[in-house]
Amino acid sequence: MSRVYADANALRGKPWYDYNKFRIEWSSPDRYEIVRRLGGGRYSEVFEGTDTVNGDRCVIKVLKPVASHKIKRETKVLRNLAGAPNVISLIDVVRDPSRVYHSLITEYVDNTEWNQLYTRLTDADIRRYMFQLLTALDFVHSNGIMHRDVKPGNVMIDHQRQKLRLIDWGLAEFYHPDTEYHVRVGSRHYKSPELLVGYKRYDYSLDLWATGCMYAAMIFRKQHFFRGADNDDQLLKIMKVLGTAKFDAYLAAYGIPFESDIEDLLGSYQPRPWTKFVNSENAHLAHSGAIDLLDRLLRFDPKERLTAKEATMHSYFGTVRVEGGQSKVEAHSDSGFASMD
Ligand code: AMP
Repeated sequence: MSRVYADANALRGKPWYDYNKFRIEWSSPDRYEIVRRLGGGRYSEVFEGTDTVNGDRCVIKVLKPVASHKIKRETKVLRNLAGAPNVISLIDVVRDPSRVYHSLITEYVDNTEWNQLYTRLTDADIRRYMFQLLTALDFVHSNGIMHRDVKPGNVMIDHQRQKLRLIDWGLAEFYHPDTEYHVRVGSRHYKSPELLVGYKRYDYSLDLWATGCMYAAMIFRKQHFFRGADNDDQLLKIMKVLGTAKFDAYLAAYGIPFESDIEDLLGSYQPRPWTKFVNSENAHLAHSGAIDLLDRLLRFDPKERLTAKEATMHSYFGTVRVEGGQSKVEAHSDSGFASMD
């Protein structure tokens, strides 16, 4: 069971988490015009758009015909998180008259692509963005929700305004203690050990693993820190850094059966000290304070990982907390559409 916020949903009651009972009131799509395509994935096509009523830029996420419960889940999560710090805000939900296309209209972020950004981040930038991301996650977790797909592609950063927004809530799920969840979530390089060994009773802490991976990428200036070619190789990459003794202790503590046909996964590896990744290019970022925080995030045992709240209290963020952390981040305005409960 999660060390924190285990009863967040029970306390709020069914109307908060029972998204299948949630009735969405759809607006007409006429108000929004497509400007250009931004990208797309398995579940959606994403466009930059214009709100023709106020001229604001927005993002139009057209959902591919997916199970209605998935649309309800993503919409309910975003509605519950209205006003959350550093979480993308949902402006509207629209459906065409034929009821074929469902789209989420969200706030637009003038994002710098990760492959352009990670080599340019200063020590102060990393502290600020990590603090913003952890603040978002603490809020989200305290509201009983796991994001389940934290990765650079889902963390939009407007570097000029120093504004960070966590996007893509399509895999987010409500956390209930002692519940089994699908382990086929997340993106390979950011998947936590529990996902890779098929342990289904995971909790919010999987988001802290993914955040730790992003943090390692930032401080060591690597595009992705653990870069496995497939799920088994992903676990191997992690074992070669954290060591097999810790892996075995984790499996034993949770009684997780683990068998593999892959000889390398059954091999024995010494832990590699974090300082081994420090070089002349990243030494100014990967200093002892940064490495201490990283070490407390990237643990096999989910209970050993810092929670988002604990991580924000780390001395690494001392200066960010003093300057307010959020000072350059504008407050969310009320999304202003009728309640859909
Ligand atoms: P996704 O399918 O959610 O990964 O989105 C595809 C791409 O659209 C992302 O990689 C981003 O480049 C872009 N995108 C998604 N949401 C936003 C947003 N709110 N603001 C700016 N760009 C976005």
